Amino acid sequence: MGRARATRASTRWMNMAHARARVNGRGWWDGCAKRTRTRGSGTARPARATSDATDARSRAEDALRASVETQLDGTDHPRVFTVPATPVAGGALRVFADVERADALRSASGWKLIGGYNAWRVGEFTKDMIKVKGTSWVYADVNVDERAFSMDFVFKGDGEAYEKDEGQDFSLTVDFGPTPEEFEEMLKVIEMENKARDEANAFIDGQMARARESGAGASIEKYGRVICKTASGKPGVAGSTERVMWNKAYNPIGGDTDKLVLHVGFNGWCAGVEAKFDLVRATGEIKDENNDWWVADVPLRADAYLLDFVVSDVEESAWDNNEQANFTLAVETSDEEWAVLRELKFEEIRAMAFKKELAEKERKERRAKADAEAKAKAIEVGLKQQSYIIHTEPKVPQVGKPLKVFYNKNNTNLSWTDEIYMTGGFNRWSHEAAIEPVKMTPPGAGEEFFTVTVPRVPTDAWMVDFVFSSGVGEGAQYDNKSGRDYHLPTRGSTASKPPLHVCHIAVEMAPIAKVGGLADVVTAIGRAIQDNGHLVEIILPKYQFFNNSVLLGGKEYETHFDWAGTTIRVEKCKVEGLQCFFIEPQNNMFQTDSVYGRNDDAHRFNFFCNAALEFLVRTARQPDILHCHDWSSAEVARAYWEHYHHNGLTKPKVAFTIHNMNYGQAKLGEAVHHSQVATTVSPSYAGEVRGSPVIGNNGHKFTGVRNGIDPEIWDPETDIFVPVKYNADNQEEGKAAARAELRQRAGMTGWDDKPIVGVVSRLTAQKGVHLIKHAAHHTLSRGGQFVLLGSAPDPKIQGEFNGLANQLGGEDTGFFFAFDEPLSHLMYAGCDVILVPSMFEPCGLTQMISMRYGAVPVVRATGGLRDTVFDVDNEKERAAWEVGGSTDW
Ligand code: ADP
Repeated sequence: MGRARATRASTRWMNMAHARARVNGRGWWDGCAKRTRTRGSGTARPARATSDATDARSRAEDALRASVETQLDGTDHPRVFTVPATPVAGGALRVFADVERADALRSASGWKLIGGYNAWRVGEFTKDMIKVKGTSWVYADVNVDERAFSMDFVFKGDGEAYEKDEGQDFSLTVDFGPTPEEFEEMLKVIEMENKARDEANAFIDGQMARARESGAGASIEKYGRVICKTASGKPGVAGSTERVMWNKAYNPIGGDTDKLVLHVGFNGWCAGVEAKFDLVRATGEIKDENNDWWVADVPLRADAYLLDFVVSDVEESAWDNNEQANFTLAVETSDEEWAVLRELKFEEIRAMAFKKELAEKERKERRAKADAEAKAKAIEVGLKQQSYIIHTEPKVPQVGKPLKVFYNKNNTNLSWTDEIYMTGGFNRWSHEAAIEPVKMTPPGAGEEFFTVTVPRVPTDAWMVDFVFSSGVGEGAQYDNKSGRDYHLPTRGSTASKPPLHVCHIAVEMAPIAKVGGLADVVTAIGRAIQDNGHLVEIILPKYQFFNNSVLLGGKEYETHFDWAGTTIRVEKCKVEGLQCFFIEPQNNMFQTDSVYGRNDDAHRFNFFCNAALEFLVRTARQPDILHCHDWSSAEVARAYWEHYHHNGLTKPKVAFTIHNMNYGQAKLGEAVHHSQVATTVSPSYAGEVRGSPVIGNNGHKFTGVRNGIDPEIWDPETDIFVPVKYNADNQEEGKAAARAELRQRAGMTGWDDKPIVGVVSRLTAQKGVHLIKHAAHHTLSRGGQFVLLGSAPDPKIQGEFNGLANQLGGEDTGFFFAFDEPLSHLMYAGCDVILVPSMFEPCGLTQMISMRYGAVPVVRATGGLRDTVFDVDNEKERAAWEVGGSTDW
């Protein structure tokens, strides 16, 4: 770390608040009360149906009457206004427009007000506008929708002439309506009820059809005699008790048994046998060789339309099931009853849906709480780990107070020096109050920490920043935490951390364009940073396979522009909550079925990177950070600094992440050179490749940041590909179900419930193919089962695995040679062990996913595998350090 240097200047750029203000010149409608008032006029919003809202409504009506005339008389009044200025949900509103001052309306023969609510999502209406005599004003009266939190409208003249406030539509905040969140809830409830209604209707219609088609009546006749009937001779009535009669003559139960049992169900045994009744011999009936009648009184279910039964003796050893056809008698259901049943069914389904919704809400809340706790704990552990090098008194810096800083050089690159200087700043070096280099007081005898006291933390400091050095000026060496500096968040700041605009430019993204871990990481890191309050955008090529991707929602047109001899069309779509832009050059460059694999990949991806930068320029975006990944988007760093930075795209700095050092090294080196921060995906891998020519003398800005997985995307409790969802509490049940399904998919036996060892991997030399093969043999010889999900780009390796599959047979092995995302989820859930024997591994995600799904990872100690997997029993100290930030287990 010899070339470390203070990063004060280089980190300053990080702090510019990003706010892309809507460019909006003074328009036709300026001066109106346009989105100016907060909802409910500032104070806590009263519930909708309170007297406040009623008052507001009547005030609105008064205002309407009183103010129209004065408004019209003024000279400097706006050209569109409403009375009252802020609409009230459920209240009256009059909308005025001065047609003289709008080209689209001036000479029209008639005018219409076209409106809607909540960004046009509900309550669209069209109203004729009325001319105010002797003026150029027109108006229309509106009853503002109860569900509105905002009202949108435009004016229409003749034909297709519209006045739309420069294309933005007019929009007003509505008072006393629901909040946007409440409105979303309302929509959700309505949708849920509609769905329940449809389901209930389909169910009852089905029942009615079955009742009609069953042909059941009040009796059954067979072989010339009646074998069962109702006592009344008519179908029973749902909800009442019916005497059921059964003829024992010639029945298979035989003998003189005097105790018999009637087993009853309804509607084609929809709930199985629901009740049993003792049969008794009927009195007053004919008894001859064709007639031996027994009876039981059976209460008929309220929603019954068929009565099903069979008969047995008390021991249930002899049965009469009407030669396997069972006995079925009709139950009468009137139209009114069907209508009632329909309502009951609807209520039942609706209640179930609400219950499910509630459970889901509870789960989400529980999850959010756990996530927040985990995050707080991670920060605490991180600070604790850091405290062995630097800590402060008070522990959390307090604004307005002095701060004593403790620094231990012994575990840093400054261990050799006797003098330590501290340079400090605030708000990631963006605050004007800086701490010039000051010499720290050396530790006393038997102590390790240098100290210095900062007189006062400014009240608007949300972060304190430090670097340490052996001296000041030329020749001094710095400990700047491998280019990241030391930072401590403060307590009590009057200002808060400004959000950053981060723009990822990448060629993979999970789940829509996934080849390996790079795809997972772009999504996971994007979401994590967005969760921390930053603005994240992702730019990808628009591959042909996006067109029929079930994982992609609706894509929308964003823009297009001519560039580099073609037209670049850009579409956008949210993926996993992230705003994505898809670059589609009209020269068919990305008309491909896969991400990689054309012999001009390098050329295509370079083109894409430049087109992505061009897109940023054309849309006047100025992100704070451009984040590019691996060789495929390495071009971004070069093209930005050599070209775009001088041509309109001025603000960004570049972060470059190496996910795998083995591909495209020339491109990687170039990007490391041009980027301000270069990372790789684990500290161990960073150590392993630091000496590579790719890093060269850029070691000072190169650091390993361990990858993670997104715990929401990889979650066995919500995973749609897992048959029985599970968490730590019911993992046995969940994993057993997944194991059974996996065995079924693989055609493996399950009789001994042998442990399953699995591999989910690209099958390349990096992944340790020889060890995988060895493990397959070993697993079987030790009485386990082995499954593999993998794709081999190299036909030779594929051939070897085909041979292995043939050799091992199918009973205890499953080989899936494919890239299959859903199956990979089932693998993690169904396997007991996941094997990752990589020769080298920048980070690896499969071992982390397997831990999340309750499968034990077995890995080679290399790169990120070493950084993420260890044996708690054997490495207690490491466990203590990682889990608690202490050295004490
Ligand atoms: P790499 O990026 O080197 O391929 P990682 O372990 O970082 O390895 O990431 C691999 C990712 O790809 C994981 O999400 C894993 O589940 C997934 N994956 C690997 N092979 C397959 C496959 N054949 N089918 C489905 N997913 C796979």
